Amino acid sequence: MVTAVASYLDAKANQGKWLLRIEDIDTTRNQPNAIDDILYGLERFGLHWDESVTYQTQRLALYETALSALGDHVYPCSCTRKQLLRDTGIAQGEFGYIYTGRCRQGMLVPDKPRFSYRLKTHNEPICVSDQLQGKLCQRLEIALGDFILKRTDGLFAYQLVVVVDDAEQGITHIVRGIDLWDNTPRQCYLQQLLGYVQPTYAHIPVATYADGRKLSKQNRAQPIHHEEPLPLLHRVLTFLGQQPPEINAFANSDDLWTWAIAHWRLSAIPQQKAIVVA
Ligand SMILES: [Zn+2]
Repeated sequence: MVTAVASYLDAKANQGKWLLRIEDIDTTRNQPNAIDDILYGLERFGLHWDESVTYQTQRLALYETALSALGDHVYPCSCTRKQLLRDTGIAQGEFGYIYTGRCRQGMLVPDKPRFSYRLKTHNEPICVSDQLQGKLCQRLEIALGDFILKRTDGLFAYQLVVVVDDAEQGITHIVRGIDLWDNTPRQCYLQQLLGYVQPTYAHIPVATYADGRKLSKQNRAQPIHHEEPLPLLHRVLTFLGQQPPEINAFANSDDLWTWAIAHWRLSAIPQQKAIVVA
């Protein structure tokens, strides 16, 4: 809800459109009814999206085309995660193991029926600027190595699909949780290779429990779609540093939305990674 409100306000305060995309690409993790709950919750809170909802699972042809367009930058890899972790000498980085390109010259096990596709990386720094977090540079080859674009089970990786979607939908501004900030150089590298324009980014803090865990369905956060819109929206705006007048000043959530759009300040969002709310 925090991310939805922040991105909605940033769009509306700048006379933009707010697009809704359901990132259901990893079909192994999709839960029945989850999407309906999200759509219902957004509408109930007054978060009305422009244009029709896009579903990643309906756009596989676009991702396939992008993968082909990457040409020689992509290669098939027969290594399994298990095998890589078993290998001595495989280095661990901040994103897990670092894949040093064992299959770049051809798959180590050529006849394997199932393989992944990886993107060749290099050691020139890839830099990206964020409206809230400043600048981040990564040398992808050292930081994580050649990363997967299509998994052995045939699913496209998140990194590829969001880049294709953003470009194809003409997204100019992305406001999202800070947990995705350190993925951004990878996405910028893909944007470069595919000839896409780099969007403007703002990564905002995530809501956590006192012990640092992120509030999420996996951590049994309460579903928000049954809560009263006005108090919750007021809490979200406070979380985002917008300093709304006290809640009694507003007759209903529409009133508060009007105030929030008129007074939106992206720069007022606290520049920290996480804010404890529960
Ligand atoms: Zn390999």
